[in-house]
Amino acid sequence: MNKILSLVCLFIAVKATAQQQLFMPQNVKKAYENETRSKDGKPGKKYWQNFGRYNINVTTMPPARAVKGTETISYINNSPTPLTRLTIKLIVNIHNPGTARQSNASEDYLTTGIHIDKYTENGTAKAFPDPHGSTNAGVRLTNPVAPGDSIQLSFDWHYDMSEESGREGMLDSTSFFLGYFYPRVAVMDDVNGWDRMNFTDAQEFYNDFNDYTVSVTVPKNFLVWGTGDLLNAGEVLQPSYLDKFNRSFTSDEVINVVTQKDLDAKNITTQNATNTWKWKASNVSDMAFCISDHYVWDAASVVVDKKTGRRASCQSAFMDKAVNFHNQVKHIQHSLDWYSNNWPGVPYPFQKSTIIEGFADMEYPMMANDSRQEDDVIQRFIAEHEVGHSYFPFYMGINEHRYGFMDEGWTTAFENMIGVADLGKEKADNFFKQFRVTGWATSPSDETQIPIITPVNILSGQAMGHNEYGKPALAYLALKDMLGDDLFRKCLHGFMDRWHGKHPIPWDMFNSFTDFAGKDLSWFWNNWFFTPYYMDVSLDKAAQTKTGYALTIKNIGGYAIPLNIVLEYADGSTETIHKTAAIWEKDQQQTTVDITATKKITYIKLDGGIYVDADEKNNSWGTSTKTKAVGLSDAELDKYTGNYSSKQVPIKVSFTRENGKLMAEPAGQDRVALENTAKDTFTHEAAGVVIVFDLTKNEMTLKQGGGTYVFTKDK
Ligand SMILES: [Zn+2]
Repeated sequence: MNKILSLVCLFIAVKATAQQQLFMPQNVKKAYENETRSKDGKPGKKYWQNFGRYNINVTTMPPARAVKGTETISYINNSPTPLTRLTIKLIVNIHNPGTARQSNASEDYLTTGIHIDKYTENGTAKAFPDPHGSTNAGVRLTNPVAPGDSIQLSFDWHYDMSEESGREGMLDSTSFFLGYFYPRVAVMDDVNGWDRMNFTDAQEFYNDFNDYTVSVTVPKNFLVWGTGDLLNAGEVLQPSYLDKFNRSFTSDEVINVVTQKDLDAKNITTQNATNTWKWKASNVSDMAFCISDHYVWDAASVVVDKKTGRRASCQSAFMDKAVNFHNQVKHIQHSLDWYSNNWPGVPYPFQKSTIIEGFADMEYPMMANDSRQEDDVIQRFIAEHEVGHSYFPFYMGINEHRYGFMDEGWTTAFENMIGVADLGKEKADNFFKQFRVTGWATSPSDETQIPIITPVNILSGQAMGHNEYGKPALAYLALKDMLGDDLFRKCLHGFMDRWHGKHPIPWDMFNSFTDFAGKDLSWFWNNWFFTPYYMDVSLDKAAQTKTGYALTIKNIGGYAIPLNIVLEYADGSTETIHKTAAIWEKDQQQTTVDITATKKITYIKLDGGIYVDADEKNNSWGTSTKTKAVGLSDAELDKYTGNYSSKQVPIKVSFTRENGKLMAEPAGQDRVALENTAKDTFTHEAAGVVIVFDLTKNEMTLKQGGGTYVFTKDK
């Protein structure tokens, strides 16, 4: 008897301590044992990272697609072990027909990849191993590089720009985007050794912080925009353009450095056959460039550090007819100002930010390649997101191959914060629900329940997107709500101070937050990042107490979400009580919330806001006099089911009935439940969609974002 009792006690004790410890894979445990990382969240005593000094000369002569480069790398081994091998990244091989990639490639996307024409180690030429089309090449070094020593590498290389661009490639016949274009040494770190993950066009990047000088040689009348400082503007620009360019560095007003009229006159650059534009950037994770002979160029700047008065340059290059790109410099100024002074509230850590018109909506250090949008709100939204990445991953050297939730997640959380400032809470939150939450929150797919900590390189499709963007962003926002802005800021800044310019892993972030918060947040990290949870609460009971009501709330989905408790009183008045995620600290399956109420309550509803509940049917108690329930029978709903197609948009929508709801599933997207709001009318509020059926004509009209689309039922 005693024995059994003590066993039970032991079991409970073990369980209690286990709850306070975050799961740690073996490679991460080893990093702590080796003291390269410290359990209080700091870089360890023996923390190290490697470093390279890159000197690159690139030549390209559009409309010819060839890009030629010569490059030297001085690579320093700061690790405690001799290097006998190197891993070289050849990302441009993503265009090689035989390379593994996550989605199909069109003929126009394919090229023969990058060709290494010459390779030397410490000045001695040797054969470069055939990477067989891979984005990685393993090189066995002739002489190992001792700890603290360095090696000089050189490469001559060439590749053809792909006609169809992805993150890089041709934007049109004489506008090229050069990204990931040069051979680089992969990251070797204390946790995973060499980063040998293939680039598959899905997961993003992981780079060391290096110093770069890059020369870009192009024909006359071609302009070049890029990461870092342009060192020789006076050599490549005619005096009047140089003057406008120089003035932009102290100007709040947008200066049209180059207009369409200027382009037509073809006398912007020095009139040599070719011009070489020289660039420099230090302590950055990559360099990217755009060249064009017909993009207009706007520039201004903005104070990003009010204490020192430091300004950052804001530039944009685009087709004159891209209407909303004419606002782009203002969008960048606004983003840099807001991010510097609000959230993350760290002065913009670079000297410039340039947005190029392309197709990718993709970030690079100090650069973004953004698509043209008809709606300026969306144009700004994309600008804010891509510029937001300047913090995560470009200031904080995140391993995006494994932990995309540390860069996309944070950037998506900042995106909501700046969105609230721009649009007001209601509009921004609806936008956020539509783009980042509802799709997975209301999807019953098992892909939505994969723990966020799962290394993202083994995920694809929906699971990858949810785990990188919406789910972690909600976690960070819930943490901000729970800690309050002051403590949250202290934790975030503490973590950023410790790790910027380095390679933090999730445990460094978790431990740093716990350290700065002065309390163990493991339960919260564990709940959001290490479990297969989702968002679904139910209001099981509202029991009257002496002072009001005691609400029993079950957490069916499991995520520790904040809640708005909406109360309706018998006298018709309403009240909303906010509870942070702290209500789940003690017990993550069930909680009791005491409501003080002097008046009789007739209706209670749990409203998660952006924490979209998977099943709202069990979220309320009592009867509302405010919201009218419109219920249709199964037979009535079945009249609306079927597949619909439209001549206006190439998308099919299938309607089905499930659990008394009409469900809509646009081909290739998540299925969502619709609300019946009037006769023949259904809405999906989070996505701002209104659907009106005309059963007599077998037609359906879909309205979204100002557009109206007529669909016909398939026979
Ligand atoms: Zn992003």
